[in-house]
Amino acid sequence: MNTTVQAARFKPYTRQTITQSPYWSRLTPALQEAVQVVSRVLPFRTNDYVMNELINWDNIPDDPIYRLVFPHADMLSPQEYASLRDLVLVQQDEAAIEREVHQIRLRMNPHPAGQMTHNVPTMNGVPVRGLQHKYKQTVLFFPSAGQTCHAYCTFCFRWPQFVGMDDLKFDAKESRELVRYLMLHPEVTDVLITGGDPLIMTTRALAGYIEPLLVPELSHIQNIRIGTKSVSYWPQRFVTDRDADDLLTLFSKVVAAGKNMAIMGHYNHPAELRPAIAQQAVRRIVGSGATLRMQAPLIRHINEDPNGWAELWTTGVRLGAIPYYMFVERDTGPSSYFQLPLARAYETFQAAYQQVSGLSRTVRGPSMSAFPGKVVIDGIVTLAGEKVFALQFLQARNPDWVRRPFYAKFDPEATWLDDLVPAFGEKHFFFETPERAEPRPQDIVHILARHDRDVEADLSAEEEAYEESSISGM
Ligand code: SF4
Repeated sequence: MNTTVQAARFKPYTRQTITQSPYWSRLTPALQEAVQVVSRVLPFRTNDYVMNELINWDNIPDDPIYRLVFPHADMLSPQEYASLRDLVLVQQDEAAIEREVHQIRLRMNPHPAGQMTHNVPTMNGVPVRGLQHKYKQTVLFFPSAGQTCHAYCTFCFRWPQFVGMDDLKFDAKESRELVRYLMLHPEVTDVLITGGDPLIMTTRALAGYIEPLLVPELSHIQNIRIGTKSVSYWPQRFVTDRDADDLLTLFSKVVAAGKNMAIMGHYNHPAELRPAIAQQAVRRIVGSGATLRMQAPLIRHINEDPNGWAELWTTGVRLGAIPYYMFVERDTGPSSYFQLPLARAYETFQAAYQQVSGLSRTVRGPSMSAFPGKVVIDGIVTLAGEKVFALQFLQARNPDWVRRPFYAKFDPEATWLDDLVPAFGEKHFFFETPERAEPRPQDIVHILARHDRDVEADLSAEEEAYEESSISGM
């Protein structure tokens, strides 16, 4: 363990406990009210480190990290906010609040891009819980103990799983089914362990999922990826947590087994990489033999400034990380609050890209993780007298679509692939089939009826164990 840095205690705050934070009094009454009302609909969780080190309290509510983790009134429509505010603060009618909240959540497209209906694989005709297999080479694995985070992002597209819409979770209690599935699928080269945040788990729990992937029978698995925001929200995970050294040893073990241990670090803003401990976390991850990639969506109010992206990528590269993706914000949750037009996203990406050296130009974007695949905006050009978006698939449900250019009419208001229409008088995009239709919120209501309380109990136990270990730490 690194003994030069003092161990910090992980202390989360939620709607129920945020009023006990020393920072609560820094919020105006209107901001406090917004937290209490909107956090009924959208998940809210932050922690001491985020509040102490990342938020500039002299700049709230405009501070980007404050916007990143605290709910705001504008995330609901004015009518929704007024109605819910009345129920929460005046009538205090829990049953009516629950009904209203449920309706608002359904309106927010809780299940974008066909994840529930099209990405869950089957074995012998039975869906494999905790897995998604959208692209040929990559399987996503959702361990049940990793389905929460050190703090929640207000824009997160996985918000439904944090608010108790349990059956929208893709969680697995153990890796046996994953291993069986992978043995049947030699075309899979990558396993992405994701959440929530898998690094909310203790190293011991994480090893229970990773070590079974190192057996010779799974030699076709070349890359084990972990998607995590802990690099930003709790870098102590790699530096001073009681099992931080064990975590790095686990990474080294994967590398020694001949595989790439790839940490997919979620960084939204350069402020997240400024603290010394965040930089130390990067150095320690890279020092273990793992690779660290940087990715995040472009979000209005949070990271619209191209200079911020340039700072983030260049700082990351200096420390040994690899810029990977700038995503377009997904069409779910409070997306109208966070979305930027695609044209603006392209301009932001281009302006940031122009500022950085070739080592940072590993980054790709702006990219939409849409129903048919990952679509990147390559440019805005005029062809045959028509102004168009030039697009291509970086990944696709059908591998034949990848890197095939296509064009959409320029639309300055468009914020997502669904808003676009083909250019040059074409009736359809080449990839469009009846299957393309995405499930609408009302189509998945039946899914909400099924619950699995056991998983929730396991999750709470794991989370408590982690928080306990961090507290008793060192
Ligand atoms: S850390 Fe990742 S999974 Fe967790 S809330 Fe943020 S974006 Fe969502």
